[in-house]
Amino acid sequence: MDSALTHLECSACGTRYEADRLHNLCRCGHPLLVRYDLGAVAVRPEEIAARRPGLWRWAELLPVRDPAHRVTLGEGDTPLLDLGGGVLVKDEGLNPTGSFKARGAAVGASRARELGARHVALPTNGNAGAAWSAYGRRAGLTVTVAVPAGAPAVTRSEALATGADTAVVAGLIGDAGAMVARAVAAREGWFDVSTLKEPYRVEGKKTMGLEIAEQLGWRAPDVVVYPTGGGVGLIGIAKAFAELRELGWLTGPPTRFVAAQSAGCAPVVRAYETGAETTEPWPDPRTVAYGITVAAPLGGPQLLRILRGSGGTAVAVEDADALATRAECAATDGVLLSPEGAVALHAVRTLTARDWVTPTDRVVVLNTGSPLVQPETLPSPAGLLSPADDLP
Ligand SMILES: *Cc1c(COP(=O)(O)O)cnc(C)c1O
Repeated sequence: MDSALTHLECSACGTRYEADRLHNLCRCGHPLLVRYDLGAVAVRPEEIAARRPGLWRWAELLPVRDPAHRVTLGEGDTPLLDLGGGVLVKDEGLNPTGSFKARGAAVGASRARELGARHVALPTNGNAGAAWSAYGRRAGLTVTVAVPAGAPAVTRSEALATGADTAVVAGLIGDAGAMVARAVAAREGWFDVSTLKEPYRVEGKKTMGLEIAEQLGWRAPDVVVYPTGGGVGLIGIAKAFAELRELGWLTGPPTRFVAAQSAGCAPVVRAYETGAETTEPWPDPRTVAYGITVAAPLGGPQLLRILRGSGGTAVAVEDADALATRAECAATDGVLLSPEGAVALHAVRTLTARDWVTPTDRVVVLNTGSPLVQPETLPSPAGLLSPADDLP
């Protein structure tokens, strides 16, 4: 189970970097991607399927070299639930710490430790902080997180409970990110693990795509709909499919990738619709789907290339529509989505109404987190009965 990792490569200018030391962005300011010698991968999909469950089953396609550095809390191998009508939900809310951020933190923290990092820092809308705190602790790292005051409270408590230095910021994620950048520049030995500012988080999130391919019997879905904030998950799933096609494991239609965003914070949708090659910062981000409140995603150009290059699209969804679709899905199928997952599922409804999604399409929707992170968005039962009353 040796990693086939060879080097890092800039997503924009293609400059190569040596993989076995810590790197943040390329000198040109854009994110680095991990490259592998896929021709040297000798393992077969059947062998991977027979391994112990979890994302380290895919070790050859992941960047950690020494098995002793691979930390786990039981992440990955989440179900792909059938909602009928060709729509399937990958339920990432079942991961440790309650979101798919567990995947990025498992691989990111493992690789940071392998390369000698001692102290990592990141801004977070909540879930990434909870995940990095837990996985960082497991990897023996010190973790500092900067969380906007409006982020779901339970995620801050989780980060604190698992030992992260947790700073609550009167601002948004961009403000928290600037504070982290300042601290990392000033303090010896701190390593910035912000979204896309190091190359390994996306490799962890890539495992969502590896699992989707395997769960669909190695036939690619027609459409993947992803609730997009920073867009790491979308970049990761697209990278997974590209690597699996190169390996010859994945066949089927070219997948159209769709970025679903909240109408109250939709920089990717706006750039897509105006034909721009990069995103403009969204002025006043506001949405119940807190995990996708990212006004200025660093991976904007990469995301737009994936959407356009795959024949995909981008869709904005109103909060009220997302929550109505969530209620309907919960009542019909017993599947309770996070607000972010609801944004993605509602985007499918929108695209179906436009005939962009057709009845023969197989569509995978990512439910990126647990609905329990934001209990205030769920209904509460009314009234209080005495034990002598009859049940309604
Ligand atoms: C972080 C997060 C997202 C957005 O993730 P990106 O891959 O950075 O776009 C979506 N949903 C939830 C629940 C999240 O925590």
